[in-house]
Amino acid sequence: MKYALVTGGSRGLGRAICIKLAQQGIPVIINYQSNANAAEEVKDIIVNNGGIAELLPFNVSDKNSVDEALEKWETEHADDYISILVNNAGIREDNLMIFMQDEQWDNVLKVSLYGSFYVTRRLLKNMLSKRYGRIINITSLSGIKGLPGQTNYSAAKAGIIGATKALAQEVAPRKVTVNAVAPGFISTDMTKELDEETLKKLVPMGRFGKPEEVASLVSFLASEESSYITGEVISINGGLYT
Ligand code: NAP
Repeated sequence: MKYALVTGGSRGLGRAICIKLAQQGIPVIINYQSNANAAEEVKDIIVNNGGIAELLPFNVSDKNSVDEALEKWETEHADDYISILVNNAGIREDNLMIFMQDEQWDNVLKVSLYGSFYVTRRLLKNMLSKRYGRIINITSLSGIKGLPGQTNYSAAKAGIIGATKALAQEVAPRKVTVNAVAPGFISTDMTKELDEETLKKLVPMGRFGKPEEVASLVSFLASEESSYITGEVISINGGLYT
């Protein structure tokens, strides 16, 4: 069986992506770091609607945990492989560069940029040998345009864009596609303390996006129908920036 792994699948965009992929009949592995209750809830929703879902907690920024968890999963699923990877786990620790602490810089790069690298590297082997794979990296408007107060986050997300474009060319001959999705403001825990009333006035559509809207785009990129799209960065931001 072919599975999809969604990192940070317990909340926000990852949660919506897990549910959407499961609705398409894809067995889903829900990764999370610490919020087991939220992850269980996503699993219950999927299973109660006739889908297949498993939990696989690990910290994406910890290389050994990534390798151990995926090694164990592969041993327990000898006949299955992960053909779809959504690198979604991410954090924000905003600060002006002049006040930025080493830990704030390191933490954000470790989860988004290093985390995507550790998980992708681990899963590529099977995708290449089976000659099929879909890798979708969740970047951000912040990685395209740059946002003040987010030099760490913008650097991490811009790094993901560079890696997406390079890897897409490395693995294209083996029918593995690699694309990035760049959301603008989407209503999740990550954006809940932002001043939505003020910020939504900047968005031509006049509102924040919904996680389900991002999930629909990811679901298309994860499908066989997206076979000739690779190395792309697709914005989903209500017209905020193009
Ligand atoms: P969120 O609501 O804060 O959820 C973050 C998810 O990532 C949670 O499932 C969390 O797991 C998981 N996570 C965090 N650190 C992790 C780690 N080290 N290892 C494994 N999982 C980890 O965030 P979101 O808004 O859905 O954002 C999802 C992605 O979209 C992020 O990459 C973010 O940068 C990007 N993005 C979001 C927006 C937006 O407006 N919301 C815009 C552009 C890009 P736990 O539940 O266990 O904590």
